[in-house]
Amino acid sequence: MKGPAIILVSCGLFEKKLTERVAADVSREFHYPVELRDCSLDISHFYNPGRRQYDANKLLHMISQRAPTDALKVMGMVRVDLYIPILTYIFGQAKLNGYTGVASLYRLKNEHYGLAPDYQLLIDRFTKVIIHEMGHTFGLIHCSHPVCVMRSSTYVEDLDQKNRHFCQRCRAELNRIEEMSL
Ligand SMILES: [Zn+2]
Ligand SMILES: [Zn+2]
Repeated sequence: MKGPAIILVSCGLFEKKLTERVAADVSREFHYPVELRDCSLDISHFYNPGRRQYDANKLLHMISQRAPTDALKVMGMVRVDLYIPILTYIFGQAKLNGYTGVASLYRLKNEHYGLAPDYQLLIDRFTKVIIHEMGHTFGLIHCSHPVCVMRSSTYVEDLDQKNRHFCQRCRAELNRIEEMSL
């Protein structure tokens, strides 16, 4: 396994079973070690009472400022509903070629849509959101391949239709980016 770790930071309470599954999948997809840490950020500052949601841009900015510096990439994991000003909600957010990203579990639960809970499905969706946002931090843009993890997703159905892997083209692009950074 290569160099510094990707660090997944839990901002909020996450079951070990879930974070460990996500960590294993992220590690498998990016071929880097993945470490799990807890975060001490008080995310209540980013709550917008008018929207009853959390401002993802401000949260991401805070994560970037307070992120551990010994990582390859840092991904914040939250349970709260995230938005950016131009969108009703988002599953996650990351800077292209950036150091950090953030992903939310909030909209991924079946219960949110009046359906029966499905824990496995929830983990799958969360993993896809995290791998997608991590992909952006590595410099990947959105992909039109129908099942590529870098395809953009507006609804959970979009997440369910893609898989958690990169298509051949994105995989090749990721390898190219990594070779350039060596
Ligand atoms: Zn995206
Ligand atoms: Zn792709």
